[in-house]
Amino acid sequence: MSRIAYVNGQYVRHADAAVHVEDRGYQFADGVYEVCEVWQGNIVDVPRHLDRLDRSLKELRIDWPMARSAVQFVLRQVVRRNRVVNGLVYIQVTRGVARRDHFFPSDDVAPSIVVTARSADPKAAQAQAEKGIAVVSYPENRWPRVDIKTVALLPNVLAKQNAKENGGKEAWYVDKDGNVTEGGSTNAWIVTKAGVLVTRPAESGILRGITRQAILELVAREGLTFEERPFSLAEAYDAKEAFVTAATTIAMPVTRIDDRIVGNGHPGTVATRLREMFHTATDLQAV
Ligand code: PLP
Repeated sequence: MSRIAYVNGQYVRHADAAVHVEDRGYQFADGVYEVCEVWQGNIVDVPRHLDRLDRSLKELRIDWPMARSAVQFVLRQVVRRNRVVNGLVYIQVTRGVARRDHFFPSDDVAPSIVVTARSADPKAAQAQAEKGIAVVSYPENRWPRVDIKTVALLPNVLAKQNAKENGGKEAWYVDKDGNVTEGGSTNAWIVTKAGVLVTRPAESGILRGITRQAILELVAREGLTFEERPFSLAEAYDAKEAFVTAATTIAMPVTRIDDRIVGNGHPGTVATRLREMFHTATDLQAV
């Protein structure tokens, strides 16, 4: 079966899916995106992802490429047509195709939309979660508007590549005050030796993760001791547990930060439990 992508109104073979060379996403990274998890035949937290997409679009003054309900329909179609049961669905919207010029194009230029989906192996992800991942710290060097989910991910690419070349699966950005902001494509969490779950507030320095939001609700429901405050890299080195969250990872235990073993070197009980319970705190839309 060949993969299918949705590109500006058409379902096309993934191998043939293309946008124009003067698409502003390609020329200027002038666009935004969302990634939703597909779990057991359901798309996870679509309303929240589309709310965040709406916010990102508004911040950049890009119009919706079509009605929100139509976008929702296309997400389901692309998942279905690719027979994805577990995996992810990706949506990207850019300011459209126009002669290269930094100024916004005229109002008659329509935004571009691309939707793709792909399968992932839940067993491999689970095996990874049972082992934990290593993260590698990296100086925060991104623009201050990381709250907007733009496709301008070059700093994230470089930070994550550095992590990979140093034996890690994720980068942890550290700001000028020594505090961890977030991962290259995840939000960052620790559990202190006193058993307090800590993550940075979403007011500045991070993307307001949809997975983070669902986990926060789970944490409240379960009555876990919790603080939303900045934490330093030093505090993370000394933590009992650490983990990251994203639609693509759920809660993924971190067992090493740089050359420091976290806790006892094994995935923590809090992260493991939150991972197990995660989907009870999400909206599930059957495809
Ligand atoms: N932070 C960054 C920089 C990300 O790129 C992502 C996801 O791509 C996240 C956090 C986690 O967000 P979400 O839980 O919505 O996937």
